[in-house]
Amino acid sequence: MGDKNIPIKYTQLFIDNEFVDAVSKKNFPYFQPFKRTKADAERAVAAAKSAFSRGSEWRSMDASARGKLINKLADLIQRDIEYLAALETLNNGKPYEDSIFDIQGSIDVFKYYAGYCDKIHGNTIPADGNCFALTRKEPIGVVGQIIPWNYPIAMLVWKWAPALAAGCTIVMKPAEQTPLTALAVAALAREAGFPKGVINVLPGYGPTAGAAVCLHDDVRKVAFTGSTEIGHCILEYSAKSNLKAVSLELGGKSPLVIFDDADVNEAVEIAHNAIFANHGQNCCAGSRTFVQAGVYDEFVKRASQKARDRKVGNPFQPGTEQGPQIDQPSLDKILRMIASGKQEGATLQAGGNRIGTEGYFVEPTVFSDVTDDMIIAKEEIFGPVQTILKFETLDEVIQRANNTKYGLAAGVITKKYQYCDCFCPSRRSRISLTPFGGYKKSGFGKDLGEDALKEYLQTKTISIKVPMKN
Ligand code: ADP
Repeated sequence: MGDKNIPIKYTQLFIDNEFVDAVSKKNFPYFQPFKRTKADAERAVAAAKSAFSRGSEWRSMDASARGKLINKLADLIQRDIEYLAALETLNNGKPYEDSIFDIQGSIDVFKYYAGYCDKIHGNTIPADGNCFALTRKEPIGVVGQIIPWNYPIAMLVWKWAPALAAGCTIVMKPAEQTPLTALAVAALAREAGFPKGVINVLPGYGPTAGAAVCLHDDVRKVAFTGSTEIGHCILEYSAKSNLKAVSLELGGKSPLVIFDDADVNEAVEIAHNAIFANHGQNCCAGSRTFVQAGVYDEFVKRASQKARDRKVGNPFQPGTEQGPQIDQPSLDKILRMIASGKQEGATLQAGGNRIGTEGYFVEPTVFSDVTDDMIIAKEEIFGPVQTILKFETLDEVIQRANNTKYGLAAGVITKKYQYCDCFCPSRRSRISLTPFGGYKKSGFGKDLGEDALKEYLQTKTISIKVPMKN
């Protein structure tokens, strides 16, 4: 079992398989963002470029050997899972058991993609004329990856695994709030035997380190997970530099629709987990709970009780379901959103306050009588706030559920339709197989599944003149 006195081994940059100081030599306590600048991004991209150069160890490695390296890294993460989970909880605040769960899922993701390495291939094409045409699936090259703080290890693995399987080299910028596990996993990658420069980690701020990676002409693709607002910036960086490929996994305001025929207890449970998991800090959170009129009152009563019963506290304490929110700005935003819900006339059924004055703890909060025009029904709160909206008919709820700028996830609970809780992966499901990503302002491009692999590959067509078609 993890505890908060675990050693923090790595706080620098990881470039070319070494932990090195920032060019500015600026160092900060681990929980503060590290000042990394354009000069550090230059070094990291140069290392990744060199690792991808013609004749490099990585470029000439057998695909099957790449798969073995990824599997080895998965095994090392499994070996150190308790340490990594404790570090994740220390840095992020999520319950230790949740960190274990996230890391176990991440190991699966590495193993899933490890198997792909030697199964990536193109086609032969019956082109016109005396020619033999074929396609090759090639790694896109140096990729920049920028991730948020809500699932530090899982987001890292979702990005690294397909990129490595494809044969790319990586410069990753973890979120400024949560660099620690990224550096610890980088150390394990070195131990596994990844050649230097294949994986580089650049902890730092977004507008400096992140932007420098995105604007770099030697970076051929940026994969980003974060806010819709910064998603706009990432596309702009691409347009302003080398038109690098971009994939964006952004915000959401996902509907969970509960029909009259649902088992109310089960619906309450699913809806509760859909919004309160990870303290509501989840881009695919079920943040609009639509409940049909016939079960509405009963649902509101039970959902509110369930929120009141949720155990909030020290994330290292066994049984804790919710730790602190990530930081002060996030806490402030959540409290502002709660205030707006009250002010706009939603009924506060549970919670509604900060807990204590130390740490960023928020009471699990439930609003009923929420209407579509309220800010809490339109904007992402990214906190433990359930908003319950009443509906009457199927046609009405389809229209209302889709009436959002986002399009990341959705769920339906009913006996009539057999696709109930499909949007919130249950703790038993293997998520690595299924692509994840948005429509509309939730972004484009996919994480996970075969689709994510394609994000890191490009197709080269080769035509060979032949004397005679055969
Ligand atoms: P969140 O609200 O979840 O913190 P952000 O979109 O602000 O979402 O941050 C997600 C990631 O994007 C973080 O790693 C952050 O440092 C990075 N980031 C923020 N601003 C920029 C930027 N202007 N350019 C590149 N990356 C950025």
